[in-house]
Amino acid sequence: MTMSQLEKYQMYIGGKWVDPLSVAWLESDNPYDGKPWALIPRGNEEDANRAVAAAKAAYTSGDWPGMNATSRGALLRRLGDLVARDAERLAAVEVRDNGKLINEMSVQLKYVPQWYYYFGGLADKVEGAVIPTDKANMFNYTRHEPLGVVVAITAWNSPLLLTAYKLAPALAAGNTVVLKPSEYTSASALEFAKLVEEAGFPPGVVNVATGYGREVGEALISHPDVAKVAFTGGSATGKHIYETAASGLKRVTLELGGKSPNIVFEDADLEDAVKGAISGIFAATGQTCVAGSRLLLHERVHDEFVDRLLETAKTARMGDPMDVETQVGPVTTPPQYEKVLNYIDIAKDEGATCVLGGHAAQRPECGDGWFVEPTIFDDVTNDMRIAQEEVFGPVLSVIRFGDEEEAVEIANDVMYGLAAGVWTQNVRRAITMADRLQAGTVWVNTYRAISFMSPFGGYKMSGLGRENGADAIREYLQTKSVWISTASEVPNPFVLR
Ligand code: NAD
Repeated sequence: MTMSQLEKYQMYIGGKWVDPLSVAWLESDNPYDGKPWALIPRGNEEDANRAVAAAKAAYTSGDWPGMNATSRGALLRRLGDLVARDAERLAAVEVRDNGKLINEMSVQLKYVPQWYYYFGGLADKVEGAVIPTDKANMFNYTRHEPLGVVVAITAWNSPLLLTAYKLAPALAAGNTVVLKPSEYTSASALEFAKLVEEAGFPPGVVNVATGYGREVGEALISHPDVAKVAFTGGSATGKHIYETAASGLKRVTLELGGKSPNIVFEDADLEDAVKGAISGIFAATGQTCVAGSRLLLHERVHDEFVDRLLETAKTARMGDPMDVETQVGPVTTPPQYEKVLNYIDIAKDEGATCVLGGHAAQRPECGDGWFVEPTIFDDVTNDMRIAQEEVFGPVLSVIRFGDEEEAVEIANDVMYGLAAGVWTQNVRRAITMADRLQAGTVWVNTYRAISFMSPFGGYKMSGLGRENGADAIREYLQTKSVWISTASEVPNPFVLR
């Protein structure tokens, strides 16, 4: 395709479709064939400034601040309906942009509307309280008010799902938003903005500014008129955002990386646990924050389990992510592809035993895309880098353990704490493990279950705050305490009341 044949996008700012002030665009590549398919505006600091100005204006004037919460909820539900209507189309855009399977993205996009329905329903159920104060002749109540302009920054692996995690509660609470998608996968956010416009949100309530993190992203997180940054991405970027936000006393929620343990006990249903291990690391080509990238196997079942795992993993069909038969697609970006291959070399150098894959895929069905063979390392010890650092690709580390105590110790001995899986038929063990694992989500006899209703977030270096679930709306609200005197006269003004 020539440059002129590529789909050329504009940014959505203040209810208008605009070219970037830089007059520059970035190519967005299809990971399956490695070729560009779209042009994404390369926003700069001035674009960030005008997006924040539009969001601030929409927060303080126009239809949005006067709109009651019930009407805001109705708008969100309308948006959910439009995403549902266009789910297949949006899924296809995401597959072209991030290379995840059409099977997975179709299911995901059909599920995304639930966030807009759920938080739309919650919008008019945010209630303050009347406080029974100790003061005579005083009426005291609380209100939960929005924060102002929220910047939402997302990673490339599930763009519109991660967007929904942030936008649905932020808008339900009455904030306005500037969305900054990953520079690798911005097309779906711009397609989504068309639905925001169609739903009838007042101009400036939702803005989409695209471009590099260090350009438009940096300008957004340091802008003085931004009240909060809701971020999903890597831990190093998350730390930087936290530090930058601190100087402006901005609030943050951070959803960061993971190195999640998937723990199989000797009493587990091994057939189910093999499926759980596969879904933990090879689904979505391992490019999920909750990837079960450390498989902890009880020594009594280790050999049998590895054999069964290999049997299934060996037959995984790689290829075109748009083909419904494909099970493992490409890695999304060239730097990520290099990173995954580099970690494979590191694991080999560290002395881990490669029992499957261990190199780039050279199968005809993988074309010119960025494919890595599903890779399994056995004999990994938890002090190796391959056990400690997030790979974000189809690379599994198998670690043995002898008993429950050792399993807990290994599982918790990483800087991350996003998720964990436990496979056992013993109820006491399931509950004890769920108590003891340092992770924001623990799955027992299942893996990768998420819902708009259930809190999601990280312990330790995996993040701050929670998304999803009713409490998530609190992350976008601040509390005001209002005192009204019912006394007939003002008392001595020199004394604390
Ligand atoms: P990344 O940190 O490189 O980028 C994430 C986003 O931050 C992108 O939009 C990027 O443009 C932006 N960004 C980068 N530098 C910035 C800056 N200085 N200022 C403002 N914005 C900036 O992460 P990635 O490679 O896109 O995504 C992969 C990571 O995301 C993995 O670590 C993964 O675990 C994590 N992730 C976490 C969750 C979760 O919910 N915990 C979900 C998905 C992905």
